[in-house]
Amino acid sequence: MTHLLDRRAFLAAGAATALSTACARPIVAADGRPTVAAAGRPAAEPALGRVTLLHTNDTHSRVEPFGPGNGNLSGRGGMARRMTMVKELRKAIPNVLLLDAGDTFQGTPYFNLYKGRLDYKLMSLLGYDAGTLGNHDFDNGVDSLLEAMQEAKFDFVNCNFDCAGAPALQKRLRPFVIKEFPGIRVGITGVGVAFKGLVAPNNHKGVAWLDPDKALKPVVAHLREKEKVDLVVLLSHLGYDEKGTGWDDLTLAKQVPGIDAIIGGHSHTFLDQPTKVANERGETLIFQVGFAGVNLGRMDFVTSKGVVKAAGGFAVPVIHQA
Ligand SMILES: [Zn+2]
Repeated sequence: MTHLLDRRAFLAAGAATALSTACARPIVAADGRPTVAAAGRPAAEPALGRVTLLHTNDTHSRVEPFGPGNGNLSGRGGMARRMTMVKELRKAIPNVLLLDAGDTFQGTPYFNLYKGRLDYKLMSLLGYDAGTLGNHDFDNGVDSLLEAMQEAKFDFVNCNFDCAGAPALQKRLRPFVIKEFPGIRVGITGVGVAFKGLVAPNNHKGVAWLDPDKALKPVVAHLREKEKVDLVVLLSHLGYDEKGTGWDDLTLAKQVPGIDAIIGGHSHTFLDQPTKVANERGETLIFQVGFAGVNLGRMDFVTSKGVVKAAGGFAVPVIHQA
């Protein structure tokens, strides 16, 4: 495939581009690593932390790539390929988190047969660190979801489902998790879309939906003030732009300052790179990479003491690469 760069060169170049375009002061080398020490800055310069977020959304039981006859989706996606890509990226860059924004279920016969157990099992093999729940993840009800979750070796985060009436789910869903690498603490939380009109009442029995901004504000404050995280990441299944009909990522980024990255889902929005939204605390990067695992999202952040110093990202097509 001549239009593709050498794979390793592409990954290395991507890291540098993603960061340097977002930062006037070049603080990263060609391999994307901070260059403070190499540049001989004074020892008092605060240490930099660095993390790369890889992400998917709305994978909808697409275990295999799209076959021929699917227009521009033909030949794209597939969990085996995604696994190869993630493995190579983890080898090439030090601090990587693999995250998902929900709607893992529904869409192919794999779901009809395995009811989501296979998806979560494969996601565990891929090494996902955390995911959240979309509306379709409730399609077979809470008990079936819990059964599938037994296959998941990763964390589920959500802070706007009140699961008081579904204690087993409450136990499995965490309001946030902290992932730590040398020099950087990352707080990850999640929000889900309103059930009304999307999930039959019987399928979310015991689970009530809360306004995402009201649920999120105390969690973001806790992560920043008590947990002293350097980066706040939100896995959102609200949708990118609901055009005033409900909560969406564009609105939330403005209403709840303090979120550095929103990894979105639900609206199947194909973005090539993150959208930057300014708010009273700085900037939030919102990213969403279509659906069905045809793209892998990537965002890179460099932080210092809880402040983002450089950030950027791009979508990586999941295609066969010779
Ligand atoms: Zn959805």
